[in-house]
Amino acid sequence: MKFPKCFSFLYFKNKKFEILHRAITNICPFANELPITYICVSSTLRMTEMKKSISYLLLIPVFLFFLSFQSGSDPFASSRVAMLRDQIRARGVDHGATLAAMEKVPRHRFVPPDQRRFAYADRPLPIGYGQTISQPFIVAYMTQIIDPKPGQKVLEIGTGSGYQAAILAEIVDHVYTIEIVPELGLMAEKLLNELYKNVSVKIGDGYYGWEEAGPFDAIVVTAAAGTIPPPLIEQLKTGGKMIIPLGPPYMTQQLMLVAKGPRRYTTRSLMPVRFVPFTRSN
Ligand code: SAH
Repeated sequence: MKFPKCFSFLYFKNKKFEILHRAITNICPFANELPITYICVSSTLRMTEMKKSISYLLLIPVFLFFLSFQSGSDPFASSRVAMLRDQIRARGVDHGATLAAMEKVPRHRFVPPDQRRFAYADRPLPIGYGQTISQPFIVAYMTQIIDPKPGQKVLEIGTGSGYQAAILAEIVDHVYTIEIVPELGLMAEKLLNELYKNVSVKIGDGYYGWEEAGPFDAIVVTAAAGTIPPPLIEQLKTGGKMIIPLGPPYMTQQLMLVAKGPRRYTTRSLMPVRFVPFTRSN
């Protein structure tokens, strides 16, 4: 071990300081090289005549500094905590698994580099090709409403950035997601494959669903359609839920909850929303 001279002095003189020093160098192996350590140590030396307890107090900021070094691996962690508190819990989302997923998934990785600093802002963001990543609250709300659980299989229409798929992948067994814009679908697939083993991405028109993979416990549609595509109803399990924005493109739409019963399905209007249009491949 390499110590500054004054540090070695304290190291041998004071057992308590030895423990502290070990703790610091464990957290940050290059602590000895940092000027802040020298400042702290020389302050400590000057105070040897004064009460030793004061010198220990001085070391508290150093500890905090090194701790922040260690937790600094995700510089957006505190933004996520604030997003959860101010945008999601504050508006009534209290579904435990949804909150845990939103706290964990690095949303900043799902937005283009020039949007990264806004990743946790209270709004949708452009992701290219005229499409958007949904506002955090909308993602949380749609996830809570379908009440996803481990063991389930969920279909998403409109992969976009892949963020909603990632939130679902944190909770359920497998997520199937379809994107009609090939460039977006391929980009999202690359990132989702890096982060998850339980997400399958398909490029295509989500109107037809993913028959081979169904039936699904839940279906999340993240583009606004004029009507509910019948294949999606068919691919929903009895007792399953679908959430879908219905309405005209580029205007206010209604977020609808569809519940499939043994003989028929029911719909319930949840709230006004604005989604990008559900487009069709011709
Ligand atoms: N869930 C996304 C939101 C993306 S916006 C996210 O978390 O980022 C909606 C997406 O739906 C767009 O990427 C759009 O290209 C896609 N989309 C529109 N119509 C579609 C269709 N018929 N089939 C599949 N994807 C479609």
